[in-house]
Amino acid sequence: MSNFEIKYTKLFINNEWVDAVSKKTFPTINPQDESIITHVAEGDKADVDIAVAAARKAFHRYSEWRTMDASKRGKLLLKLADLIDSQVKYLADLETLDCGKPVKIAEEEIIYSADVFRYYAGKADKILGNTIPADGEVLSMTLKEPVGVCAQIIPWNYPIPMLSWKIAPALAAGCTVVLKPAEQTPLTALAVGALIKEAGFPPGVVNIIPGYGPSAGAALTHHPDVDKVAFTGSTEVGKLILGSASVANLKRVTLELGGKSPLVVFNDADVEKAAQIAHNAAFANGGQCCCAGTRTYVQAGIYEKFVKEATDIALKRTVGNPFEDVQQGPQIDKEMYTKVLDYIEAGRKAGALCVAGGDKIGNKGYYIKPTVFADVTDDMKIAKEEIFGPVQSILKFDTFEEVIDRANDTNYGLGAGVITNDITTALSFAKHVRAGSVWINTYDHVTSQTPFGGYKDSGIGRELGEDGINQYLEVKTVTISVPKKPQM
Ligand code: NAP
Ligand code: MG
Repeated sequence: MSNFEIKYTKLFINNEWVDAVSKKTFPTINPQDESIITHVAEGDKADVDIAVAAARKAFHRYSEWRTMDASKRGKLLLKLADLIDSQVKYLADLETLDCGKPVKIAEEEIIYSADVFRYYAGKADKILGNTIPADGEVLSMTLKEPVGVCAQIIPWNYPIPMLSWKIAPALAAGCTVVLKPAEQTPLTALAVGALIKEAGFPPGVVNIIPGYGPSAGAALTHHPDVDKVAFTGSTEVGKLILGSASVANLKRVTLELGGKSPLVVFNDADVEKAAQIAHNAAFANGGQCCCAGTRTYVQAGIYEKFVKEATDIALKRTVGNPFEDVQQGPQIDKEMYTKVLDYIEAGRKAGALCVAGGDKIGNKGYYIKPTVFADVTDDMKIAKEEIFGPVQSILKFDTFEEVIDRANDTNYGLGAGVITNDITTALSFAKHVRAGSVWINTYDHVTSQTPFGGYKDSGIGRELGEDGINQYLEVKTVTISVPKKPQM
């Protein structure tokens, strides 16, 4: 880890660093050794009120932000992307310290996030309405306008990417933002706050309030002066947010929630390649991934061979100090660590065959062995519930119709994958599986250009791509009287 200081631990409001009104702070923990990294200002309702007022002022019709050329908004976003790129090493170290992901992966995620800002920078001056041949003696057109003040609440599993998915389209659209990072990972969001100021965004356009969900988060989702809430996290909290967002006013809501995504491997697949794709699908980010492909369905003809291959790959997965060359660091916190170990226990008790891992590693930090269960059945808890840890469940199937029904037999619908060389099988699966993203012979390939989000309890709305910016725009229809034959 490079030698660096943690410069930003206060709330970021109006381009200034301020203490919480209560003066309270909370510790952020290093998941490698459970030590306190630093203390961060703890925002709550009083701070949210100040931040929302700042965001509202920055959204005033004659403000610098609202009167700025759209192309200038794009230039500011490009500047921010360049600043993020210029600090990749620092931001990656900070991210790894705070959430335990391998530093090389943190670097890739930060470079990716800068590109999300670039993608939306390009969109800022290409937000187009329509002209419409309306009935009557009129001309109609649509204007796409920013939704307004946006509350954005993000989780700890991909702190900088989630920040980019939220802030970039909102700013490209011309909105203003109050962002709450997860209590476990406030540090990189604050560091990006400093870059937002340096890039030249006017005060109040982006405000960042670290704090806890039930206090700072809930104050945002209940706030009468917030126009939209964008949230990524658990389905449980997503449902709470949907309720609270309709109490004081009717906020626009986008939710990106959990999943229990199926990855289906057919008999004609190359078993080695398929097992590697399935491994990555289940274990990426230590399994702390909303679209993790954790239900691996394998057709009977290759089942035994596949289980052996999946076991070998999992046993070789390197876990340890995330500042070293490893594939997996510690889980995020004690709560998730305990929860994942409990699921592993539940898998054993239910009679699934643990063929790899199945235990914690050491007694310090939140390390868990990559765990593979074979002979899992659909009724088992490990096949039904989101584990959010390094646990793969392998299930056997016989026919296409059977596996489609089983893949869809879940309240979730975020991602799905299929591995086969048969184009009809692949496209039929893609057509009939109920999920927001389907990957064929790959998995979790998510780019700035491709919309991402869930069916069913996995969410509402889409992020990224054209669909992503549309969630930050209102459509205004303007109709002008134009006589068909002018009296002149
Ligand atoms: P979470 O509670 O849903 O947290 C996500 C974000 O929402 C955090 O910023 C959180 O604040 C905030 N929050 C919590 N309660 C809130 C409320 N009442 N009102 C407004 N905001 C609120 O997720 P978690 O506890 O970190 O993880 C629990 C489970 O969520 C995981 O096991 C996993 O299944 C799922 N999860 C999904 C994703 C995803 O990408 N879809 C990401 C992370 C977790 P705090 O920081 O104070 O909690
Ligand atoms: Mg929580």
